[in-house]
Amino acid sequence: MVMLITKRVDVSSLCPICESHDETILHALVTCSVAATCWAKAGVNTTIATGMDFLDWCATTFDSASNETQCLVAVLCWAIWKAQNDKVWNNKLPNVYSTIAFAITYLGQWKTTQTPFESSQLAAGYGAERWSSPVSNGVKVNVDVVVFEGSQGYGFGVVARNEFDYLIEGVARSYLGVVRPELAEAIGVREASWIKANGWY
Ligand SMILES: [Zn+2]
Repeated sequence: MVMLITKRVDVSSLCPICESHDETILHALVTCSVAATCWAKAGVNTTIATGMDFLDWCATTFDSASNETQCLVAVLCWAIWKAQNDKVWNNKLPNVYSTIAFAITYLGQWKTTQTPFESSQLAAGYGAERWSSPVSNGVKVNVDVVVFEGSQGYGFGVVARNEFDYLIEGVARSYLGVVRPELAEAIGVREASWIKANGWY
């Protein structure tokens, strides 16, 4: 919003989530309450030195992070941005667990598309399923779950991609309660009702 105001667009400069700070990129993606909680739960440091902007924070974070964490930072930034858009456009309150679940699901699916296929990946467990592009004009939907044992909550993310592997739709939800991962995944499939609504197959 602050960027729009510098271009003379008549909008409020306040963050739509907390409504108490100017909505800079750094605030929206790093220091706003929901974003900061996401980073804390993901184990990423959000210490901000005076005068730092978002790019400075990215550079500092990437410098001290493992490859794995760098990927998580990128995808979690995107998930937080998506959650903020859901609040602005759909008036949906952002949820920390849904946001992290969506980020981890998307990252997991993306990783399986990047690694060379090996027969060992057919073993049971994570990585046993591999993403492949849907047939021409088709849409492929993947569901994955995250179970937060410490907080007795679980969440799932659903991503849909077209034949070019572009993300065309994604949702994430979270719930309180202890469930087995298989059950959480089944709930994720059930909740993906927009698949039918979009007439995909
Ligand atoms: Zn805020």
